[in-house]
Amino acid sequence: MVKLDIPNLDDVFVCLQCGYCKSYCPTGSVMGWESFAPRGKVYWLKKITTYGLWDKLFRRKFEPDDEWMKTLFTCTLCGRCEAVCHTDIEFHEFWEETRRHLVEQGLKPPGGSIDMFNSIFNEKFRNPFQEPVEKRDEWYKDDYDLPKEADVVYFIGCMTSYHEYKLLLNVLKVFSKAGLNFTTMACDERCCGAINLMTGQFARFDELAHHNVGEFRKRKASKIVTGCPGCYRGIKRYAEYVDRFDFEILHTTEILADLIHKDKLELKKDFKEKNKPLVYHDPCELGRISEFEGHAIYEEPRFILESVPNLGQVQEFPSSKRHSVCCGGGGGLKAVDYDVSAKITLTKIDDAIDIGASSIASACPNCLGQITVGTKMKKEEIAEKTGEKFKMNVFDVFDVVAKAI
Ligand code: SF4
Ligand code: SF4
Repeated sequence: MVKLDIPNLDDVFVCLQCGYCKSYCPTGSVMGWESFAPRGKVYWLKKITTYGLWDKLFRRKFEPDDEWMKTLFTCTLCGRCEAVCHTDIEFHEFWEETRRHLVEQGLKPPGGSIDMFNSIFNEKFRNPFQEPVEKRDEWYKDDYDLPKEADVVYFIGCMTSYHEYKLLLNVLKVFSKAGLNFTTMACDERCCGAINLMTGQFARFDELAHHNVGEFRKRKASKIVTGCPGCYRGIKRYAEYVDRFDFEILHTTEILADLIHKDKLELKKDFKEKNKPLVYHDPCELGRISEFEGHAIYEEPRFILESVPNLGQVQEFPSSKRHSVCCGGGGGLKAVDYDVSAKITLTKIDDAIDIGASSIASACPNCLGQITVGTKMKKEEIAEKTGEKFKMNVFDVFDVVAKAI
């Protein structure tokens, strides 16, 4: 019997096993098995650390293996369980810390997690996607002559740099139009390391913190702004790893809402889907998890969207803000079990269809990519079943604003 040490397990000994969290958990709901829901995960975690006399007598053996790690990691780290837990277990920290302890004691993080880690620390890539370093600024370097130093550094993030470049160009367009004095770190930007924290691979996170903080300082920045909620939380964690961390960390929607409030950006063109309902999806890390950490961003994206002429009132999903359901792309789940992550996305799209929305907007490049792929799958599913055409627009808040200026 492998005896694992999970120091933070005390946090969940208060679990009543009431099961109230089960139907709230997106992976538990999609899989239908208790082991994939928080209560089941907590049960098995207790089992591997409290192997006792009765287990011996009944010859009950439980060996944590790769399969069990996959089950544990089949979780989007969305924190929805924490929002409903009867005993207020702080799951958003608990899951990350538990993954960390298990990985540090030699268990293997599942799926492509190790490949992502190695890619981040490979000097040719410095990102989790094995994309060349020199491609990081290729979409904008010829069109934007950004200053060497600025008070605001826009930390772009790997997902936006390599996969959601249209969003990147829209952020640059909007900030430039508003006259914001900002710069980027171009190819000196390294992965923020959030994926390391999510997948239990905390080793060498300090290197990323020191590198990126050094680059912030070179540019004499006091504010770091990012459009990626994963980077937003990851960069905040740098404070635990560097001697001095005196930067204000902001999400791009906070800066944009402020620019609109101060009349520094005129939104004059009508929303192209004029008077058709648009629903806003709260990214877990930007909304609920940031709320747990003391700074929820719920209102800014809604305010920005409603400032666009003829967009109307932003619609809400049946569960939103604190109770928003994850898009399916969080917690590194795509790398662990792509099918589960896609099923969660499809339930989200079904919710949007049920409320009659014709567009889904969000404020996270990961949600954007995930929901976009999900709508394509839904289109094929509907075409196959009914032969009907299905259309759902998917936007980031900045995509909508860029078209309105
Ligand atoms: S964090 Fe989300 S996916 Fe993970 S157990 Fe909790 S509710 Fe389920
Ligand atoms: S809601 Fe909280 S107390 Fe109840 S089973 Fe889930 S984790 Fe345990």
